Amino acid sequence: MIREYVVVGTGVPTVRLICIYNIYVCRGGSPCPHVKRRVTMKKQGKLSNLKFFSKYYKPYIGIVILDLLCACLTTVCELVLPMIVRYITNAAETGVTLLVVTVLKMGALYLFLRIVDTAANYYMANAGHVMGARIETDMRRDMFDHLMKLSFGYFDNTKVGQIMSRISNDLFDITEFAHHCPEELFICTIKIVGSFIILCGVNVPLTLILFALLPLMLFSVIFFRKGMKDAFKKQREQIGELNSQVEDTLLGVRVVKSFANEEKEKVRFAQGNSKFFERKKISYKYMARFQACTRFFDGVMYVAIITIGALFMIKGHINAADLVAYLLYIQTLITSIRKLVEFTEQFQRGITGIERFTEIMNETPEITDLPSATDIGDVSGDIKFENVTFSYSDNDKNVLSQINIDVKKGDNIAIVGPSGSGKTTLCNLLPRFYELTSGDITIDGKSIKDITLKSLRGSIGVVQQDVYLFSGSVRDNITYGCPNATMEQIEQAAKSAGAHEFIMSLPDGYDSYVGERGLKLSGGQKQRISIARLFLKNPPILILDEATSALDNESELIVQKSLERLANGRTTFTIAHRLTTIRNATKIIVLTEDGIAETGSHLELMEKGAEYAKLYSLYTSL
Ligand code: ADP
Ligand code: MG
Repeated sequence: MIREYVVVGTGVPTVRLICIYNIYVCRGGSPCPHVKRRVTMKKQGKLSNLKFFSKYYKPYIGIVILDLLCACLTTVCELVLPMIVRYITNAAETGVTLLVVTVLKMGALYLFLRIVDTAANYYMANAGHVMGARIETDMRRDMFDHLMKLSFGYFDNTKVGQIMSRISNDLFDITEFAHHCPEELFICTIKIVGSFIILCGVNVPLTLILFALLPLMLFSVIFFRKGMKDAFKKQREQIGELNSQVEDTLLGVRVVKSFANEEKEKVRFAQGNSKFFERKKISYKYMARFQACTRFFDGVMYVAIITIGALFMIKGHINAADLVAYLLYIQTLITSIRKLVEFTEQFQRGITGIERFTEIMNETPEITDLPSATDIGDVSGDIKFENVTFSYSDNDKNVLSQINIDVKKGDNIAIVGPSGSGKTTLCNLLPRFYELTSGDITIDGKSIKDITLKSLRGSIGVVQQDVYLFSGSVRDNITYGCPNATMEQIEQAAKSAGAHEFIMSLPDGYDSYVGERGLKLSGGQKQRISIARLFLKNPPILILDEATSALDNESELIVQKSLERLANGRTTFTIAHRLTTIRNATKIIVLTEDGIAETGSHLELMEKGAEYAKLYSLYTSL
């Protein structure tokens, strides 16, 4: 995939970038110095895609071999029929009396071949398809596992709908391809080679003429193939786009309805839908061209063989029986080539699917464990930010530069500052949701890069403004981080979070269904469930990112109390929108777009009368 970007950043000249499989190069080919986090990835060619894919066959190699053997048997059965017809016609023409016994023997032989053919076909249709489905399942598992490894940065820049279409439609096409590809290729090859050998035994010149026509057909197939492949790929991309759009609208359906914007959404969808139709139309145009051309060549072959064959017969180079066999073999050849044509269509879709599959699989997780990383062990909770600088990969501008913060065990650090100043970003760096551009963060003197991600994230609890609850019961959601918690522990956590009472008033108590994304609960209730989740997880470090800002006053008070209980004894970072709630913080950090403006306790900063004092008086005068 080649994409082109124009990158504009502060302090760097505007550059045109070309992204080839995630390697960024300046136009002209030199690696771009301005892109900081260049993902090291090799350009993937079609061959390496196929090589990557071929490893999925490995566990099923036995089935593949048996499948090919069956394919071989069916082909032999098909190739024998014209020979039998030729024998009979020959006998009739030369006046040789056919013995009833011979005819019956031939009939029996053919019946036997047909039985073998039926059994082989059954195996191919059943075991072959099941193998395809197994490969699909394996690939889907690997894709999902890989998606789970990818970092926030990837999901920030990728539409979920596109991923969904890859994990469903594309993989289905790959299944069909996985099963039919080796089989069809094999059948076509032996049919073509087999008929060539048999026909050469009958009449060499006519066979050479017949086969001289085949490359013509092949060239036309290759010629029309390219257009078709591109068209199919575009069609794929558009269905992914359409999926994203539907998902976006349906997830935001409450906003759509509250703005009475159904018509607008309908128009937006209709545009995407008709674009998909256009793409499909183009694909079919290429497909039709492709089929028309191959049909035309079928005709040409028949005409050529009938005419030339008849001329040969007049000259006495060939007898009628051989010509009949020829015409029958043309049928076999044409069906194989037709199959090959159908197969190329399937091949196109399969290859496109594989390309899109490998595109995701080649996406390297930006944040992984170092080989030397160790578990965090017992956390005391001293945290240091040392010269931390960070910029998002899609923007050259530093969101944070040279940030230094020293936090002692059990401290309650409040971070305040205008919206967009980087408070959330700062907190997201601690669990390594994003990788630092430079500088370091240490926990108990150990760099977070040297700690395994699992143990690092296991030691940090995050409460955010938007709570995500999984569709399932209240209990499922509370135990999300601790699946083995006992009912007693769950209730204790819910009580500490101030959630037990409202949970008990729900129709099924802890087994009540929370709805998709928890939409059956109020904001405050959802937040309390998310806090209960953390009481169970019991992390030594906490990040509270505007946890109460979306709540009404009453819920806010309740949640605030739960949060205070949760924060007790833990090193806590609080981003608060209500400055009154952080007056007791050990240290307040005032973050502005230019970095940390000042730090100190509430009293110190009020006395100083600078940035914080201004924010505070502005807040209290509201
Ligand atoms: P705050 O929490 O202080 O309101 P944020 O940390 O959310 O601020 O954002 C700081 C800056 O980083 C903003 O300019 C915002 O646009 C940008 N930003 C935040 N998240 C992302 C992201 N995922 N990708 C790119 N830029 C982002
Ligand atoms: Mg924020």
